[in-house]
Amino acid sequence: MAVEAIKEQLKRKVEVRVTEGKKIPHLAVIIVGNDGASETYVGNKVKTSAEIGFGSTLIRLESDIAEVRLLHEISLLNSNDEIDGILVQLPLPKHISEPRVIETINPAKDVDGFHPVNAGKLVQGLDSFVPATPYGIMLMLEHFGIETSGKHAVVIGRSNIVGRPMSILLSSPRAYGNCTVTICHSKTKDLASFTRQADIVVAALGQPGFLKADMVQKGAVVIDVGITRVPDATKKRGFSIRGDVDFESVAPLCDWISPVPGGVGLMTIGALMTNTLKACELRD
Ligand code: NAD
Repeated sequence: MAVEAIKEQLKRKVEVRVTEGKKIPHLAVIIVGNDGASETYVGNKVKTSAEIGFGSTLIRLESDIAEVRLLHEISLLNSNDEIDGILVQLPLPKHISEPRVIETINPAKDVDGFHPVNAGKLVQGLDSFVPATPYGIMLMLEHFGIETSGKHAVVIGRSNIVGRPMSILLSSPRAYGNCTVTICHSKTKDLASFTRQADIVVAALGQPGFLKADMVQKGAVVIDVGITRVPDATKKRGFSIRGDVDFESVAPLCDWISPVPGGVGLMTIGALMTNTLKACELRD
């Protein structure tokens, strides 16, 4: 599995750093409130940090915390030399401005790659922290040697976290880029007419089972980013995780498809950890 290879590589790099007397990478994660899905994501990030030998700090804040206090916590992490990467788990409660929170993180520690400085650098093809989910997808394409150059990629979704940076990466003149990219979104008319022409479809809209067999051409590469909890009485926890692709009907048509769970979600964590190591190395 691609993510295991990434984790193994990161673990070895940490071991080398230790033998060289260098500091080990340290990720700080802030969670506000106790949303179930956010708890799961944060738990996985802390667990993976430990598995590969990174240090981690988890800061839990009450859901009614004043924005100014959250910004203060971030400032403390910005000036703490032990911390290499800072991540504030989204979404945040309605009374807190996500853009203000993101802009408060030092771009050099912004391992989620959401700060406008990193987003701007990505657009201009400069070295930056690339948002973990699209970066994880690029690492997945590389790991499985999926040819992208000259292909038509359709990205469904235009968020700053997934769709928009994904479209930039796939269209960039770089390895596993060089695609002709179409971005579809909630206002796109006749979306299926675009996906039916696609060599590569990235579904990142958050609508479980949205992409059906009649929307995909034979031999397509389909990457499912969606993660939605749907009620499921057969599961002890009462829900199961579904992606944006109707996997059963679409998979038989595809040259390659990523499953949910077990696909992009895992790669996202691998990419986040890769960014954290990079942040640490840049501060050596
Ligand atoms: P978002 O809600 O910010 O954006 C959704 C996008 O989809 C919007 O740009 C919107 O225009 C578009 N959209 C919504 N309905 C549509 C429709 N019917 N047709 C076409 N476009 C439509 O969501 P997001 O943060 O980009 O996340 C998208 C999905 O990916 C969610 O399920 C989320 O949970 C998942 N996600 C997974 C990971 C991971 O690690 N695998 C990371 C981030 C997000």
